[in-house]
Amino acid sequence: MKKVKVNYEWLVPTSRDFPAEWHEENGCYMCRCSQCGYIFYGRKRRVVCRDCMFENMEQMLKDNERKEILLKATYDILKKCEASSYVLNVFEQTALWDNAECDGYCLMDEIEEELGLDV
Ligand SMILES: [Zn+2]
Repeated sequence: MKKVKVNYEWLVPTSRDFPAEWHEENGCYMCRCSQCGYIFYGRKRRVVCRDCMFENMEQMLKDNERKEILLKATYDILKKCEASSYVLNVFEQTALWDNAECDGYCLMDEIEEELGLDV
């Protein structure tokens, strides 16, 4: 779809639009969101609407939180191994992950999935 520059004076912003940039030189174009398919008004180069942008940010935060919990569980297992006076098998140690006890194999699977390494 060819993007069309719009006179914003008569526009009433919705939650999908970016009214804060409408006054800019290339700030008020009619765009179609590549995610939800709805029309929104914002900078010429924008590809997703404001609603979808926030939704994506929320998802990113959730993903990051998950990664942090996974790192913490891995750290807990390594810490157990370090604290032991004899050599422990890292795969036999457990840590809390997703509210369940998870051993080294389980964590390795989760990390592979997070990094997209699983085949
Ligand atoms: Zn959208």
